[in-house]
Amino acid sequence: VRPHAPALTAHRLQARYNGFTALDDVTLTVPPGHVTAIIGPNGAGKSTLFHCLAGTHRPAQGQVLLGARDITRLPAHARTRLGIARTFQQLAVFPSLTVAENVRVGAEQGRLQDPSAVERALRLLSLDGPVRSLPAAALPTGTLRRVELARALAGSPRVLLLDEPAAGLDTAEVTALARILKALAADGTALLVVEHDLDLVADLADTVHVMNAGRIVASGPPDRVLDAARSQENTA
Ligand code: ADP
Ligand code: MG
Repeated sequence: VRPHAPALTAHRLQARYNGFTALDDVTLTVPPGHVTAIIGPNGAGKSTLFHCLAGTHRPAQGQVLLGARDITRLPAHARTRLGIARTFQQLAVFPSLTVAENVRVGAEQGRLQDPSAVERALRLLSLDGPVRSLPAAALPTGTLRRVELARALAGSPRVLLLDEPAAGLDTAEVTALARILKALAADGTALLVVEHDLDLVADLADTVHVMNAGRIVASGPPDRVLDAARSQENTA
């Protein structure tokens, strides 16, 4: 076992929409047991990178590796089976299913079809009370973000891709989220998080990559990278 071997690797990814280059030569590794964060302005290519990693956008060039395995050509559902779970910037729960049913879908589509993982995920996200039987349609954003995360976790993923998990959450919810994500990393999950909340990134991340115009323009530990990003934001 090589404990620091990357769980997920993006190697020289380029992505295009028609003629437009949304990702240009992006290389990064996502190690197990770490939180890797991606920050950058709207349009930088953060969500496109997630789509390439999750298999919902085919890169024009470059490779995606899960461990040592080249998964560049695998469709999204096959990557989910291999242990890459994700949440979406635009929430994507099934509105007519209950909370528990949504989470069960995650287990059915995930790496292990383990019913006890459903209960564990519901408990971890405080969704094991009466809310478990409510249809997702009626729930507030903070609860839906927890449902999405529980659904991702129910598949026992090795890699977790979270696109703006704190968007729409209040302070208490962000604090609870940070605690959960740290526990997942401590358990060995590889986390890649796109997040606008720089305080949360500073609290969580082991490594931060700054994206701009489709490229990674800075990388390093948060205390080095975030000061530069904050002062850039203030002068913008
Ligand atoms: P971010 O998540 O960092 O805000 P995105 O990856 O969503 O950035 O977008 C990167 C660039 O690609 C933006 O200029 C955006 O307008 C463009 N883009 C994203 N999705 C599409 C799409 N489906 N079709 C065409 N252009 C897109
Ligand atoms: Mg985005």
